[in-house]
Amino acid sequence: MRIIFLGPPGAGKGTQAKLICKKYNLPQISPGDILRQAKKENTPLGRQAQSYMDQGLLVPDDVILGIVSERIRRPDCEAGYVLDGFPRTIAQANALEDMLQELNLGIDFVLLLELSEAELVKRLSGRRVCETCGEEFHIKYKPPHTPGICDRCGENLIQRSDANVEAVKKRFIEYREKTSPLVYYYEKRNKLRHISGDGNIQEIFTRVQQALKAG
Ligand code: AMP
Repeated sequence: MRIIFLGPPGAGKGTQAKLICKKYNLPQISPGDILRQAKKENTPLGRQAQSYMDQGLLVPDDVILGIVSERIRRPDCEAGYVLDGFPRTIAQANALEDMLQELNLGIDFVLLLELSEAELVKRLSGRRVCETCGEEFHIKYKPPHTPGICDRCGENLIQRSDANVEAVKKRFIEYREKTSPLVYYYEKRNKLRHISGDGNIQEIFTRVQQALKAG
């Protein structure tokens, strides 16, 4: 099964992608996670992406396509995968279509998580991430047992470097201008499923599973 999670920043794509991957034993492919790891390790890729990410801007298509095309060709992707945060532009979606055609494959579902901008801002501002293991929390919706400390590894929780007001504004603008045209793109291909991103993690996961069952 090959699934794409689409939706604005803060809609819960990463959280739902992780749950689907666990349930169906699929790899999660998130260029954002790959780039954050590269930044942490200070690799050339990380240094190249850093200023775009910190400003809330999309990283250039050729960089992202290099990451994804290498990743989806690995053996663990044979049975499928969940794309979280990719594609984010029409050029990326066209390139994905070409890559898949080459492999004689297609996308099965595009799940669009929808939420009001006011709620998205609340989600983004409460988000905390472990600076060591990357586990994600939310001060209200998924609080750690001890405030500021990761449940998994005991290290400090921080805010993402693109969680400041200016970067968040830019991320919304980038979404509206460059990513939201993908809604129509996948609607036309009859792949799109609209899912309300309202409610708690489990409620949303139930809707996601229903959308996949509905075929
Ligand atoms: P995310 O974790 O998916 O919110 O991504 C964090 C940041 O990584 C984005 O704001 C972009 O700077 C960059 N990024 C992630 N995925 C993409 C993509 N498909 N295209 C361009 N930039 C991306």
